Amino acid sequence: MNYTTKEISNITNSTLIGEENLQVKTIHFDSRNIFSSIEAAFIAINSEKNTGEKYIRSAVDKGIKIIISENKLAGFPEVTWIIVENAIRFLQQLAHYHLRQFSLKTIGITGSNGKTVVKEWLYQSVFDQFITVKSPKSFNSQIGLPLSLLQINNKHELGIFEVGISKPSEMEILEEIFSPEIGVLTHIGAAHSSNFISEDQLIEEKIKLFQHSKVIIFNGDHHEVSEKLNQKYADKKHISFGLKISNDVHFENDWATKTEPLVVNFCGELITIPIQQRDEATLSNALCTISLLKELGIGTEIIIEKINNLKSVEMRLESVTGLRDNLIINDSYNLDLDSLKIAYHFINEYNKPQKSLILTDFVEGKNSEKLYHDVAELTNRQKFHQIFLIGTEITQYHDLFNDETITFKNTDELIKSHVLNQIENQLILLKGARKFEIERVKTYLELQKHDTILEIKLNAILHNINVHKSVLKPETKMMAMVKAYSYGLGGYEIAEFLQHHHIDYLGVAYADEGVDLRKNGISTPIMVMNPEQHSYNIIIDYKLEPEIYSFRVLELFTAELKQKGIQKKYPIHIKLETGMHRLGFKSNEVDNLIQLLNTLDVKVASIFSHLATSDIEDEKNYTLGQITEFTAMSDRLIAGLGYQPLRHLLNSSGIVNFSEHQFDMVRIGIGMIGISSNAAIKSKLQNAVTFKSVISQISNISAGDSVGYSRNYKAEVSTRIATLPVGYADGIPRLIGNGVGTVGIRGNLYSIVGNVCMDMMMVDLKNENQIVEGEEVIIFNSQPSLEEFADYCKTIPYEVLTSISRRVKRIYVKN
Ligand SMILES: *Cc1c(COP(=O)(O)O)cnc(C)c1O
Repeated sequence: MNYTTKEISNITNSTLIGEENLQVKTIHFDSRNIFSSIEAAFIAINSEKNTGEKYIRSAVDKGIKIIISENKLAGFPEVTWIIVENAIRFLQQLAHYHLRQFSLKTIGITGSNGKTVVKEWLYQSVFDQFITVKSPKSFNSQIGLPLSLLQINNKHELGIFEVGISKPSEMEILEEIFSPEIGVLTHIGAAHSSNFISEDQLIEEKIKLFQHSKVIIFNGDHHEVSEKLNQKYADKKHISFGLKISNDVHFENDWATKTEPLVVNFCGELITIPIQQRDEATLSNALCTISLLKELGIGTEIIIEKINNLKSVEMRLESVTGLRDNLIINDSYNLDLDSLKIAYHFINEYNKPQKSLILTDFVEGKNSEKLYHDVAELTNRQKFHQIFLIGTEITQYHDLFNDETITFKNTDELIKSHVLNQIENQLILLKGARKFEIERVKTYLELQKHDTILEIKLNAILHNINVHKSVLKPETKMMAMVKAYSYGLGGYEIAEFLQHHHIDYLGVAYADEGVDLRKNGISTPIMVMNPEQHSYNIIIDYKLEPEIYSFRVLELFTAELKQKGIQKKYPIHIKLETGMHRLGFKSNEVDNLIQLLNTLDVKVASIFSHLATSDIEDEKNYTLGQITEFTAMSDRLIAGLGYQPLRHLLNSSGIVNFSEHQFDMVRIGIGMIGISSNAAIKSKLQNAVTFKSVISQISNISAGDSVGYSRNYKAEVSTRIATLPVGYADGIPRLIGNGVGTVGIRGNLYSIVGNVCMDMMMVDLKNENQIVEGEEVIIFNSQPSLEEFADYCKTIPYEVLTSISRRVKRIYVKN
């Protein structure tokens, strides 16, 4: 969206107090997630539980200058207010207006389960054929849907939006703002929210979404759904899908037999598709996606290829190898009777001699007595070895369960009891409502698999970005450098988090990295710094923007544009050489560059250069020289082009040490992780990365015993040696062995002794008797710090991070 404050107040009939011509491109509703205040407004949404107005102060502190609220608060002299009668209604009115400014094709997906999966699968399958906009995550509510719709711009050809309701009458409101051309009903669950009196009512409410749809694609396995749709919308085009063969789209062969490839019958056409996972939910979602692709006119061959490449979306059933030969099936996505059935079906595909169940309270549903009777009946058919019930509700019904049943008030109590340690060679099904955080049990049970992990704190990254932003003008844009697998921290996970927080640009080194991000749903503009000649083709296909650093690259790239018949001005980034002596156009080439650019079908999106020594105080004059050179060269270029591309020069150190020269955008990298060359800034940053492992074994050795290969370490006195399951293949350089480096255990440092091995290393615990096997070992975070660890390795944090091998599991935590 892009409206002025005046336009917004006109569109929504609300009162504007303050400036009329401020631009609004984003509306934030959660002040914790405000990351960019440029052209952004904050809306204070009051709910039963919470008054949004409480958060206006924190939004304003983050630089927000426009507040949308039901009440004007005193004490904000700089703020422009849009005073509305009802904040949610306001969003809906604005979205209603906004959507009608465009003519994209729209798909609306509703249903009890599967909305997000179908949306994401469809997106993954079509984003390279249509410019597509979709709901972020599962934004589908009275607030989420309008915010999703506000993302639409005039480039979009297709919009895929989830629509969810939690009580009667909500759908009418949502349908009024959003009447999708193609309506989709994924699945109606047996368990419905207690706000509906009956399943009938639920169905009737959901299908109101289709009032103005041309096509309805629905799960026909549910008899009442088909019936109601036929009654109400007889005149529309219907496509039913489902596991029953009466559907227009169904499986031709027995879908439960894993050995055979699946054959889909799409209205008579037979299509063989590769799907490994054979649970009912996955298969129904796949049929739904195929129906949609067909309706969008996608060819069968492409459909097969796309279905083959789908990646699971927050797979509800995840199987991981546990300690003591256990197999853990984790399904903590949602908990209702349907999903319990699916889970029971799923676990029977594994042949483990015994199985145990961990099950929590079902959070929804009024009639708990009936519900738990049903749960127990289903469960009793399974014959579990042991059942662990968690929660104050379900435990009251423990008598209903036939197998050995143990009860716990909460998840902590279960973990602390250590009863799980006795389970061996079993399948353990974890089935929990979200609030029980049953994943913690999973982590506990699977400990050994990921003894060595790199833990990334996403909120620390956000905090660090905000610290850097605090020295910049609010309107300065920010590019996050996510090259080299985001400095080793992970590919799309980091980029997705940054995108969610409205980073303006992403920077990668190679086209492949950018393609990977696009395939994972990253739509933020991406600059590619090393556009290799063989990759121009995919750069264009995936809407990546190349860095152009020489005439050779410019000519080759524009030749590729021509060959692909790209007419409109393609965005490129011009790199200027100002003192790094690496890549870039030189000062004496600028005139020719202008001439050439003015004849080509490209648009210079930005002009930039890179500082060689922004982190070194003594080289300040060199940096200032680069800044002067960059200013002069880019001034000439801009004058010659006749339009104003973005200019950017500063990396993380540049931001904090030369903030007066921020131009239009900056490029943050290592600063996000918590490293800074500026002590004042460094003290405000949070450490975003922890590399840790555990002790596999502790051995007592005697004086004279040697440790490890080549016997490079010999104990002078008897001591305790801990062996850690991490070595040079994980990215620990061999040169930190033999007493050079240390690790942290319980806050103290212990020396690495002997040679570091490929997959292990040894640490001298001296006579510390308290430390036990299985304990956590810090390779770096605070003690030792990443900088200290880099010193042991005689290198810099950048190389340490990018050397941590891919086999080390990355774990992302929010807090
Ligand atoms: C990597 C990189 C950055 C980021 O550098 P940091 O020192 O990590 O902030 C900025 N600009 C360019 C061109 C880069 O390659």
